[in-house]
Amino acid sequence: MRQLDIGVAGAGPAGLAVALFLSRAGHRVEILERFETPAPVGSGLLMQPTGLTVLAALGLFDTIHALGNRIDRLHGADAVSGRTVLDVRYDAAPGGRYGLAVQRAALFNTLHDAAVADGITIRTGVNLASTEQRGDRVVLKNVGHEEVGNFDLVIDASGARSMLAAGSASSRAVRDLTYGAFWATLDGADAVYDRSALSQRYDKAKVMIGLLPAGRATLGERDQVAFFWSLKVADVEAVKAAGLDRWKSIIRDHWPDCAPFLDQINDWDRLRLARYAHRTALPPYAGRLVFIGDSAHSTSPQLGQGANMALLDAAALSHALARSDDIPSALAAYGQGRRNHVRLFQLLSLAFTPFYQSDSSAIAWVRDRLVSTIAKVPPMPGLLAAIVAGTLIDPFTSAGLTEYDWQGEPGLFSGMA
Ligand SMILES: Cc1cc2nc3c(=O)[nH]c(=O)nc-3n(C[C@H](O)[C@H](O)[C@H](O)COP(=O)(O)OP(=O)(O)OC[C@H]3O[C@@H](n4cnc5c(N)ncnc54)[C@H](O)[C@@H]3O)c2cc1C
Repeated sequence: MRQLDIGVAGAGPAGLAVALFLSRAGHRVEILERFETPAPVGSGLLMQPTGLTVLAALGLFDTIHALGNRIDRLHGADAVSGRTVLDVRYDAAPGGRYGLAVQRAALFNTLHDAAVADGITIRTGVNLASTEQRGDRVVLKNVGHEEVGNFDLVIDASGARSMLAAGSASSRAVRDLTYGAFWATLDGADAVYDRSALSQRYDKAKVMIGLLPAGRATLGERDQVAFFWSLKVADVEAVKAAGLDRWKSIIRDHWPDCAPFLDQINDWDRLRLARYAHRTALPPYAGRLVFIGDSAHSTSPQLGQGANMALLDAAALSHALARSDDIPSALAAYGQGRRNHVRLFQLLSLAFTPFYQSDSSAIAWVRDRLVSTIAKVPPMPGLLAAIVAGTLIDPFTSAGLTEYDWQGEPGLFSGMA
């Protein structure tokens, strides 16, 4: 493939990673971001072996590892009975895999610093709204219909509510999910009982409270915890009207261990409301506009795959461009390569979400009685570990990656197959 002019919409994990891969492959890459200063949005997230392998291929494994907190287990208990209803351990599947909880700022800084070090241009304050195909070029336009760039290829990495995806025929309308969550990044990692676990408490499927020890935003800072509480987006105003003290007492009643974290929340502004949306773009391209990350497939974060799939997309697209003679065949190869993995995990996310976020007591009963029992019977522990790790089907080969060697010598991994 000749050297291309590539415009990347959005400086999130997907946009920064794809820009790094493609500029290192010799293309001229420019990122266009709506924020005046690119910044991460949200609290913590769980990097899976998939996303960590992509970061390793970018030479960023040690950087992210130094900031994150190793997670070996996902544990959830019924808040009323104390009974364990979810217990997934990465080591139930062979390979020595684990997760890494990170603050969003840590992931963002890791990728952003690398992009700056590589001299990638990041143009800020550009709110992108549409594209226009002109022959073999794509023109990017902002919300004021002004032309802001002209490229051989535009990669849309502008997230779940991408306006570029909304305007594309291949992208179905985004479906807002009923439940969202309040999130906060809080101090007091020492107060977490099991620092190697994502811990959750449930009351049926209506209440879900979580604590994720998420490491530090930058080296030298203290470790923090991502705290979340699931709620219906339509109930947010009523919850706020009832008052912060009432909200805190509900959480304390469900999970007394949260007290030291709740003490730090003295204002609703300390909490950030995350809304979830579900959408899958099939195929993930239209002409010379290609979708990666949440703009291609967004869902609830119940399975903790979104940022990891965004990184896999970035690797897969750059791999497809490197192996193809022209842009249309590269985009077709990218769509084909990611198709099964994306479909499977979109389906699993849709299927799992109601077990943790819904009004149905019946579904919660099935989860607590049936699923939690079946989950202990082989081969279920290994299968659940592979679902959480994102490796239930091979996500690496089509992205041109070899999986990180979890038990090997650090520093010896090149990442590319
Ligand atoms: C509460 C919550 C918890 C989550 N937990 C996890 C987890 O544990 N593990 C996991 O893997 N994933 C998790 N996710 C999902 C994960 O955050 C997303 O999948 C991931 O951020 C997608 O990356 P992205 O780069 O595609 O999009 P984004 O991170 O949304 O980045 C998009 C970028 O595009 C920019 N942009 C948007 N619109 C425009 C525009 N019009 N013009 C120019 N720029 C624009 C934005 O400012 C942003 O910089 C979670 C999500 C939420 C909401």
